[in-house]
This record gives sequence, structure tokens and C-alpha cells, in this order.
Amino acid sequence: MELLKQRILQEGFSLPGNVLKVDSFLNQQIDPELSLKMGEEFVKRFHDCKIDRVLTIEASGIAIGLTTALKLGVPLVFARKRTSILMTESMYSTKVFSYTKKETNTISVLKKFLPAAENVLIIDDFLANGDSALGLAKMVEEAGSKVVGIGIAIEKSFQIGKSKLTEAGYRIESLARIKSLADCKIEFVEE
Ligand code: 5GP
Repeated sequence: MELLKQRILQEGFSLPGNVLKVDSFLNQQIDPELSLKMGEEFVKRFHDCKIDRVLTIEASGIAIGLTTALKLGVPLVFARKRTSILMTESMYSTKVFSYTKKETNTISVLKKFLPAAENVLIIDDFLANGDSALGLAKMVEEAGSKVVGIGIAIEKSFQIGKSKLTEAGYRIESLARIKSLADCKIEFVEE
């Protein structure tokens, strides 16, 4: 997605540890127009799928998950990284290692928001080692539903997540694919 790539080049910072900082439009301040266009692009890419629900993970997946769900006319559900006292009903939970926080979190979704026999589209902001997406997929499958695909805003193609998810049989659609973040330079995969 050309528009997203331009914004990454204009506003992104490549940090040590192969981390891309895009907090001016995706990770802290959110650009609603760009989020809407990203949602529309995900819908376009998965137009051949029947989708009943969008699943993402807090916090940065929510904006793009919402615009995708809005355009599809389906609900958005987000996994929580911490359980709250309000989550008193039964939940699906799984452990996920956080790439940016370098800690393991138990992510959870209330069972009532992940019914069986649905087609679920997973959306997330970044793909690095694939742990978040795999954790979300595990919960969908535990619920007895199907992951129709995984939509990623920014795929770091030089990390193992993409091949891990592809080998596990998931369809991945990434709006921007980064080849390298070495030497503080942002390079995209040639499409
Ligand atoms: P994974 O689970 O694929 O290893 O990492 C994906 C998750 O880690 C995303 O949900 C995102 O929050 C975070 N993440 C991974 N790499 C980056 C990055 O380069 N920049 C930012 N801002 N977040 C990242």
C-alpha cells in the first residue's frame, strides 16, 4: 500500500533491535483517515472470503481492526493483554511473548465474543516473530472457528513470523513489507 509506505518513510524511525517506531500515525497518535484507508485495503485484499468477525489485540491493532470491521459490517473483538475484574465469565487465554516489551503476557478474550463455527479475520499492526498472530489464531481454533486470514499493517519480512504463519497454513496479507531496518535505514521488499 503506497500511502502507508510513504508515511513509514516520512515519519518512521528504525530503532536498535529491529524495531520500527511509527507512533505518529499507528502506535500512539492515530491517523483516522489512514486507518480508514488501511481498513478498506484489508477488505479489498480479503474480498474473496466470507468474514463474520475481526479479531485483533490491544492496543495498536484496535484502530485498523475497527476500520476493517466497519467496512465489512461485522463486529470487532480485541484480545486483552491483562485480565480485568470485569472479565468474570469464561475466557479463551493463551500466552504470548511480546516482541517490544520482551515479556510473556497472557492474552484473553471472553468466550461469548468468539463463538464457534465462524470465519474470523485476524488483524494486527506488526508482524515480527509471529507470536501474537499465532496466539490469536489458537484462540479462534479453540473456539471451533476458522481463521480465514491474517491482515498485517507492517510486516518485517526479514523476521521469521511470515514463514512461521505461512508454514502453519495461514494466508497473510501485509500492507507494507519491510526488507531491512539495518543502519537506521528503512528498505521495503520490492513488490
Ligand atoms: P510478533 O508477535 O509477530 O513477534 O510481534 C508483533 C507484535 O509486536 C505486534 O503486535 C506489535 O505490537 C509488536 N511489534 C513487533 N515489532 C514491532 C516493531 O518493529 N514496531 C512496533 N511499534 N511494534 C512491533
